[in-house]
Amino acid sequence: MQSWSTPYEHCFDCGLRYVPDPVDLGMFMYVSTAAITGIFLLAYFLIGFPESGWARIVIGAAGLAFILLTAPLRRSLGIGFNYATDILFAPEPPA
Ligand SMILES: [Zn+2]
Repeated sequence: MQSWSTPYEHCFDCGLRYVPDPVDLGMFMYVSTAAITGIFLLAYFLIGFPESGWARIVIGAAGLAFILLTAPLRRSLGIGFNYATDILFAPEPPA
């Protein structure tokens, strides 16, 4: 079923497959999720651990919400980066 968070597999005009290798996109999602987690942890350490348990819950929930809400955007970025690197670093055709 098509939902707002699921990208189309190919272009309807030219048939270009957006994600030839799902592992590449999975790796981008994994690394970007890890980066967001790292940024929130770093901010947590820089700000200092709040005394209140509620403040910790709010910060944790904000981090989780940020990861979930940015997932469609990061997936789109991943598809774009993947396509760009495929073009930029494609092996030269034999002469
Ligand atoms: Zn197209």
